[in-house]
Parts: sequence; structure tokens; C-alpha cells
Amino acid sequence: MQPTCAFVFEAARRLVIKCSQKQIPVAVMMITISKENYLKAIAEAEAEGNTVISALLARWLSVTPPAVTVALKRLSRDGLVTVNKSGRIQLTSVGRKVAERTILRHHLIERMLSEIFGMGWVEVHDEAERLEHAVSPAFEKKLVKMLGHRETCPHGNGLAVMNPEQRRKKGQLLLIEAEAGSTYRVRSVYERDRKLLEFLEERGIRPGTRLKVESHNYDGNAILKVERKRITLGSPVAERIWVATEHERNLH
Ligand SMILES: [Zn+2]
Repeated sequence: MQPTCAFVFEAARRLVIKCSQKQIPVAVMMITISKENYLKAIAEAEAEGNTVISALLARWLSVTPPAVTVALKRLSRDGLVTVNKSGRIQLTSVGRKVAERTILRHHLIERMLSEIFGMGWVEVHDEAERLEHAVSPAFEKKLVKMLGHRETCPHGNGLAVMNPEQRRKKGQLLLIEAEAGSTYRVRSVYERDRKLLEFLEERGIRPGTRLKVESHNYDGNAILKVERKRITLGSPVAERIWVATEHERNLH
């Protein structure tokens, strides 16, 4: 008899419980990977200032709403998240620890790919999404030793995930809010959207780029001067880029 998906899932779920203190077979590792992805996405979505609900997670992780429902049941059962009556998802302290560990490994892999292998900043996020789950504690230690400490990843995002309020306290603002006539430096970019990163790279915009906001149009477009080029950015892009005025840089 061919096993059904439910059967496979059930079998794997039982194995997770049975094998928690012993070795972890491949089928179970797949579940662990997805668990880490969910927990990391919840932590990052919170940090973006979102109230995390299942529809948002489905969008962030490109999975179906029923898949999120199944995953949330598992995560709550394992004491990693709580879901309240209005559907708001929050990490428990154990869930947050797993998320932070995964974020650290993601950060290290991105830096390794960029600093050691010379891979472009546009590519490293997707690659790190796959590799972060394979990092052992011993390899993590080696990476920390080899790369040294750096607060930000190639996209400018901090190791300690900051929410919009914390970013503002550090003198950052969204490009969409930047003042016409002023000069800024790009601090960080939303990194979960490969197409956005490619779009920015084509226009010479990346963390560290100096740009001048010339005007904000009535239609929401921002007109910028980057190097000597004039660039128009629509609001869906300008609201995903954090900048700081030049004199605020020393705050970091
Ligand atoms: Zn990054």
C-alpha cells in the first residue's frame, strides 16, 4: 500500500517525539527545517512591525493557509508559539530562542558567502535560507571565529532584529518618509524579496549607497539622485528601504 501524505506526516511526527534525544532521521529533519523557518518568519514579521496572523505567514513563506494551520498546531503543541482568540501568533521564550539561533546562522552563512566566496548581495539570502539549517554548533563556532563580529548582514539587517520603533530611535527612517532636498545613506533593505533586490541592484541602490531625495510626487513616487543618475522609485519599493541622514551614521 502506498503511504498517503497524512500517513507520512503522522509517521514523521511520531519519530520526532521518539527520537528527540537520539539521532534525527532525514524525514524528521525536514520537519525541523520548516519549524525553524516558521519561527524565524514570525520573529522577523514581528520586527517589521506586523501583527502576525496566519495569512501573513502564508504570504511570507509562500505556503498555503491550510499548511500554516497544520504547522501552527504543531508549533503550539511543542510549546514554541501561542495563538490567541483573535488569531495573533506569538513566540514563546523557547520559540524565540530557536528563531534567534536560526537568524544568527542565516546571518553567518550570508556573510560567509559574501565575504569568503564573493557571492553577490542579491543572491546570498536565498542560499542562506537553504544552508542555515545544516549548520552544526561546531561549524557555527568556526564561522564566528573566521568572520569576526559584525552587526549587519550584506542587506544591512542587524543580528538583533529591530522593530520600526527601535530603528527610528537609531536615527533611521523609511525612504518613503525622507525629506525632499536631503541626502541619506541606505542602511538596510527588506531581504526576503529577490525581485526587489534585483530591482535595486539594477539601479545602483544597496546598503551604503548615498542618495539625494529630490522630490516626492503626488502619485507616491520618490525622485532620487543616485551617483549622477536620476531614479524614480514607487512607494512599494521606497517603503522597504531604511535610510539615515549622513550625520546619524555614527549612532551605529
Ligand atoms: Zn541578510
